[in-house]
Amino acid sequence: MAEQETNCIFCKIIRNEEPSEKIYEDDDITCIKDINPASTHHYLILPNKHIRNAKTLKPEDSDLFDKIVATVDIISEKLDLNPVSTRTGFHWPPFNTVNHLHLHVISPIEKMNVMKNMMFKPNSYWFVSIDYVKSRLGNCKL
Ligand SMILES: [Zn+2]
Ligand SMILES: [Zn+2]
Repeated sequence: MAEQETNCIFCKIIRNEEPSEKIYEDDDITCIKDINPASTHHYLILPNKHIRNAKTLKPEDSDLFDKIVATVDIISEKLDLNPVSTRTGFHWPPFNTVNHLHLHVISPIEKMNVMKNMMFKPNSYWFVSIDYVKSRLGNCKL
């Protein structure tokens, strides 16, 4: 079992101590439905290992990060999400919700309301892209 925290809600979900709708899971990754969906489809991809947020990812987490990103394709195919209408991203501290890293996958973006569009605004101070986190991880290696 991956390193986890006793009282973290997402760690509890991963351990099946809290109810959730799991879309996908393997040894490293769990994907659940967001309980407060911003569109028809809204999922959270979590590493089973407790990592606080996108900013605390370390270079040694690179493989795990790639698995998180690859899971977007797995669930998109499984649920027939249109990539053009799908938004992904991470909260950026201090604008976290739950302090367990999660990648939001929202689709279709056309059905998001103004509030949700603001909350999950691409490349804002509070919500960043996969590429942004990836490039940052890459820079850490230097
Ligand atoms: Zn956790
Ligand atoms: Zn969130």
